[in-house]
Amino acid sequence: MNIILLGAPFSGKGTLARQIVEDFHMVQISTGDLFRENIKNGTEVGLLAKSFMDKGQLVPDSVTIEMLSKRLESDDCKRGFILDGFPRTVAQAQALEKIAKIDSVIQLDVPFDEIRRRATGRRTCSKCGEIYNTATYNKTTCEKCGSPLFQRDDDNLETVNNRLEVYVKQTAPLIDFYADRLFVVKGQDTPADTYKPVKTFLKGRL
Ligand SMILES: [Zn+2]
Repeated sequence: MNIILLGAPFSGKGTLARQIVEDFHMVQISTGDLFRENIKNGTEVGLLAKSFMDKGQLVPDSVTIEMLSKRLESDDCKRGFILDGFPRTVAQAQALEKIAKIDSVIQLDVPFDEIRRRATGRRTCSKCGEIYNTATYNKTTCEKCGSPLFQRDDDNLETVNNRLEVYVKQTAPLIDFYADRLFVVKGQDTPADTYKPVKTFLKGRL
């Protein structure tokens, strides 16, 4: 079973993916990681991708698809995979159709007010990088190392609103494209509650 996960930043996509991977013995594939691995290992397609990045250009879809296609041939993908962060456009989704069968698309739906709250409440330890949220942690120093916490520049309202706008623009056409295999799950208070209907849904598809 091959799955695509859609969800805004701070929607809890990473946690949901980890739960699915664990229960259904799938591999999670992020194109960001794929780029880093291919560049680090100096593969032909990695070097090609790097040549665009070095010039400050976007890596063409054909290069990403080639990288992905090689990855999906690996043995560990035979039981299924979860794609996170790809596709972002309908053109990419169409290209993906040619190299893999996508069975289900899960959209994690969290109200944007909640996302803004999560984002602007995030605090990072200045020394060890541990992440906290003011909703659940009200101290100004790190529990692990005692160093002061700070709010990263990215975690302000303006940045979050921009990212949400990009997300809506990118995702709306994908939701239409995958309408025949879309499963929408509402983000709940706890990861376990969010995961429950997803698990039931995926079990039904086995
Ligand atoms: Zn710390």
